[in-house]
Amino acid sequence: MIKSRRKFLQLGTLASFAPLTKLFAFNKESIAIKPVVISTWNFGLDANVEAWKILSSGGRALDAVEAGARVPEGDPKETTVGLGGAPDREGKVTLDSCIMDEYANIGAVACLEHIVHPVSVARKVMEKTPHVFLVGEGALQFALSQGFKKEKLLTKESEKAWKEWLKTSQYKPISNIENHDTIGIVALDAKQNLSGACTTSGMAYKMRGRVGDSPIIGAALFVDNEIGAATSTGVGEEVIRIVGSHLVVELMRQGSTPQEACEKAVQRIVKNQPVKSKEMQVGFLALSKNGEYGAYALQKGFTYAVYAPEVGNKLFEAKSYY
Ligand code: ASP
Repeated sequence: MIKSRRKFLQLGTLASFAPLTKLFAFNKESIAIKPVVISTWNFGLDANVEAWKILSSGGRALDAVEAGARVPEGDPKETTVGLGGAPDREGKVTLDSCIMDEYANIGAVACLEHIVHPVSVARKVMEKTPHVFLVGEGALQFALSQGFKKEKLLTKESEKAWKEWLKTSQYKPISNIENHDTIGIVALDAKQNLSGACTTSGMAYKMRGRVGDSPIIGAALFVDNEIGAATSTGVGEEVIRIVGSHLVVELMRQGSTPQEACEKAVQRIVKNQPVKSKEMQVGFLALSKNGEYGAYALQKGFTYAVYAPEVGNKLFEAKSYY
């Protein structure tokens, strides 16, 4: 069911915004913290819990981000990721995902059908093939060869919503309404290594074959273990146009804080699309090698979850350009 995120926030999580001041003060002081995991949107809270189990017992950031990303992938109630994800305009659920570790190893899949956990397939691409990116039928064949099961991803609810959409067939992504969203998750482990993952069903009712930013290393995810990691959510076409997450990490390399880097990337989108950017959502998260983090979006309403010592697992709303 497509539901309003803003309404959900009013109901459930306003109390979590209380530590916002503390968070930003914390950032300014650049206190090194680790381990830490940050992830996009409200579903980041549950994802962080799984990631934290690994991080808090000394595990690797790579394992933590994969475990975190699998949470919304496996939840049929989340209509923007994995099982239960909204289909394309032909009624097919096609998933995009990528993963990157501290050694710049990468793996990705796009337009993958029938597999609940594309992030784990992306990891297998990274670890078991001479390639970094498999798409469509080839990605499915590879997943099956690795023991993943073929499943029906279109739930009754998603099918009903799609049939409703077919009545008008108007493709109009709406900011902060769950007809698109991605979990992007980045973590710094106790050994001070960074990794990240990203997974989505993409824009609801997209054209068949459409691929967004989410499986594209450099666009929706980038990790440089010397500098930091970044991830994105929102209208993928705009993130690809500026190679967003790579831009954020490179800005950090040049001296920007994670917060400043996210702001500069969003400003670049506004510069490219001064009119269209008023109507769409794009958000970035960034995490530095020393555990500082930042977030920024085009529009209000972009939430992200942080799990770190002294912070706990909390949901925050990012500052925005508009
Ligand atoms: N970035 C995703 C895509 O374009 C959607 C989202 O995160 O809202 O497919």
